[in-house]
Amino acid sequence: MVKISLQIKANLENLDELFTNHPDYNFLLKLKCLNCGEISDKWHDVQESQRFPTKTGKSDTHFLARCKLCGRENSLDIIEGSNGKYTGDDVGKFKTLVTFDCRGIEPIDFQPSDGWIAKVEESNKTFNDVDLSEKEWVEYDDKLKQSVGIYELESKFVKVK
Ligand SMILES: [Zn+2]
Repeated sequence: MVKISLQIKANLENLDELFTNHPDYNFLLKLKCLNCGEISDKWHDVQESQRFPTKTGKSDTHFLARCKLCGRENSLDIIEGSNGKYTGDDVGKFKTLVTFDCRGIEPIDFQPSDGWIAKVEESNKTFNDVDLSEKEWVEYDDKLKQSVGIYELESKFVKVK
């Protein structure tokens, strides 16, 4: 088992917190089979609120797929409670958003989508369903009469011990 964290970095304009609507957030991932090296060309959905029974039926997992090339059954879990928040203090740095427990596969690419939540402390305003599929997002805080935004969203994967 390998634990791999998805980390993000972004510029936040007048925002204090950015996080996903887990457990319903749909992580779109490209995965690599560690047995044969096959990389899926489609995006896979991984959600903490979804569970699939494993072949033995004794346990379940958040993602299960048979490798098209070598036929091995691989699986991946979102580690409970690993979801993080990106805050104003994190700007300019990478921070862990979620950690995956990987069995036979590794995520190698992440495509942000909708389902993010952004908060402004001063106006106590919450923006639900922020769509980051363009890796940018701009809105207007009508209480503080200023624009809010997320720019230059980047992501990477790091192995954790
Ligand atoms: Zn394979």
